[in-house]
Amino acid sequence: MGSIEESTMFEEKSSFGNLSILTKVDKLRELIGTKVALPQLVVVGDQSSGKSSVLEGLTHFGFPRDAELCTRYATQITCRREKEDSINVSIIPHNDASSSEQARIKKFHHSLKAITPENLAQLFTEANEAMGIKSSTKTTSPNGTALPAFSEHILKIEKLGPEEDHFTVIDVPGIFRKETEGITTEADIELVRNMVKNYMKDRRTIILAIMPSNVDPATQEILKLAKEADPSMTRTMAVLTKPDLAIERVMQQIAIDHVIGRRGDLLLGYYIVKNRGPDDAHKTLRQGQADEKKFFSQAPWSSLRNTERAGMEALKKRVRELLVELIKKEFPKLKADVARELSALRSELNKMGPSRAHQHTQRAYLNKISEAFQALVRDSLNAYYTGNKIFDDRHDLRLITRIVEVNEIYSDTMLTNGHTRPFSSDSIPEEKSIAEVRTAVVNADRTHMIPSPDDGTYPELEEILDDSLEEIEEISAEGDIMDYIAGVYRDSRGQDLGTFGGALVSTMFKEQSKKWRYITLDYVKRVIWTVHHFIVEAIKETCPDKRVRDELWNGYLLEELQDAYRQAINHMMLLLEIEQEGPPLTLNHYFNEALQRAQSGRLVAAIRELGAERAFSVTEGNKTHVEKGVFLNDAQMNNLSFNMANSEHVQEYMHDILKSYYKVSRKRFVDVVCQQVVNFRLLQGKCSPLKIFNTEMVLDLTEEQLDAIAAEDIPVKRRREKLGQDIANFQEALKVLKGSA
Ligand code: GDP
Ligand code: MG
Repeated sequence: MGSIEESTMFEEKSSFGNLSILTKVDKLRELIGTKVALPQLVVVGDQSSGKSSVLEGLTHFGFPRDAELCTRYATQITCRREKEDSINVSIIPHNDASSSEQARIKKFHHSLKAITPENLAQLFTEANEAMGIKSSTKTTSPNGTALPAFSEHILKIEKLGPEEDHFTVIDVPGIFRKETEGITTEADIELVRNMVKNYMKDRRTIILAIMPSNVDPATQEILKLAKEADPSMTRTMAVLTKPDLAIERVMQQIAIDHVIGRRGDLLLGYYIVKNRGPDDAHKTLRQGQADEKKFFSQAPWSSLRNTERAGMEALKKRVRELLVELIKKEFPKLKADVARELSALRSELNKMGPSRAHQHTQRAYLNKISEAFQALVRDSLNAYYTGNKIFDDRHDLRLITRIVEVNEIYSDTMLTNGHTRPFSSDSIPEEKSIAEVRTAVVNADRTHMIPSPDDGTYPELEEILDDSLEEIEEISAEGDIMDYIAGVYRDSRGQDLGTFGGALVSTMFKEQSKKWRYITLDYVKRVIWTVHHFIVEAIKETCPDKRVRDELWNGYLLEELQDAYRQAINHMMLLLEIEQEGPPLTLNHYFNEALQRAQSGRLVAAIRELGAERAFSVTEGNKTHVEKGVFLNDAQMNNLSFNMANSEHVQEYMHDILKSYYKVSRKRFVDVVCQQVVNFRLLQGKCSPLKIFNTEMVLDLTEEQLDAIAAEDIPVKRRREKLGQDIANFQEALKVLKGSA
């Protein structure tokens, strides 16, 4: 055949009929066939009903005669017009198969130039092996377990050549009802039935139900299944086979009645074909077709002559028409489906963010996360809770609000519980037990879903935050403060009369403030806990990729966080040491005022005690009124000055100094701890744990560190590649559907 002739013929056939629309569907099948249901033709029926034979008649692709092999999985046969003859065989992996299995199966690929029974048989054996099912040479896997008989992968056969029509048919394993010892099991029966049902269910599928003519179609299970899948029976066509085996006159008539439409309820009706039987193994397809023609020209079948429903040619013509009609009808809907799927794929890819194969994309990726994290930190510290939706239902992440609560509890506890012994004439609220204070804090946390330090949520904090509750309870000393002061005074009295050494104040202050350490430590730990919880949750929120998060956390953040927490505790210890160990010092005038007030209070009290209450008339201008007052006579006056000079007075003075200083010191200490340890060290300062994960940290990472943290792991990489490929395919498919490709 010359090349000019060849191309003319090619052109001629291309312009024939509705070739182009079938070509389009073939292209779509290539691109998105496993993702979107496309108009297709499936051949279903009982085992040995003649499915493969019908398929061969439609596509001219002959399965090896030893055909038991090809009924173990669905086979998709696609014919396509190409200048060169060839047959390509590959496997379309089932969507549910693991990615490694999919990859392995995709490797299966064979191209044949010439088809011989031998190389086909060889090919099918290899295909069985690739699918991991029983083959003629292999029935068990390397570890000894029996291989399955059926597979849900699809064997794809592409038949290309200058004579081919565009056409795709799927051959599905035949349904059967009895297991065969050593070959098929009960479970296989169900598996195949489900597979068949699955292939029939899509409304874009034309069902060719194959039934032998020597049984009454009314009794055929396959028609029942088809009716389930296609209740209106508008896309089911029945094909009767083996008319040559329907020898009885009655059976013949039943078949004829179906074909001419006198029986049965199929809109698309019944067709009848005669294929080569087991005895015709030596005959070619062409010879078989000649036999068929002859067969239908004889009585009683010759009565079907005008129905155009007898013979493979008629069937093929009708099936083609049907397919084209269906495709035309489905195209708009198909376009919409493909467009929708395309946008779903794109948004999934978007969600994954940019690919992280290179250093700069990795850094950009981490940077974006760190910026999102810092934004969350900023909002949570500024109480800008409208800044991010997450604050709506995550009140545990409203950090500054939670800290303010803890601060208040601390300040109150220092007021009520900070001193070892209550001062005399003090109006401080009653002391609460430490357990009570703790419970209050824990309850506050619970309402905000902050986990309790006791439930082991953050083991990484345990060594930093070891518990100190017991120690606090041990040191709640009782006794009257004046008794205590008297004791101190007696033990350290020197020769100086009516005065005392400054060191005594220091000693007394240390004793009076010894609970500060535990209360404050408890407070700082509580803040650390709250901050840590925030960081953990904020990173979860801003870095959704668990692998990256774990790597970042364990490799970099955790150690630095622990360090920051330790620094905060050390800082607090330093402040405590300064406050307790150094000489009492204050420039706060409040101290003097308080002392004066206490002293003059005592004087007034002494006067009241000694003197007598009297009423005086006071005349101002021409008005006279009565005032009350205390009157001291000379003797009482002497008594007063004697009273002020004794040791009791010195002790009272000691008390007043201690009380005034303690109050100033407590307020100062609470403020300084809040300001320096909590606010600076743990929240706002540049060494705050909240500031560790920032842009600078990301910039400082070395290439290796970056790769360890931010490189995509293999499944993510694969997923991304797959999505990219799918998107490209769907885009191309959309072009095909719009007629621009
Ligand atoms: P499948 O199991 O449904 O795929 O059926 P096959 O197409 O493999 O056919 C099963 C057997 O029936 C084969 O031996 C075929 O040669 C034979 N067969 C199929 N169609 C006809 C037919 O029209 N007449 C006769 N006599 N035998 C047929
Ligand atoms: Mg078959």
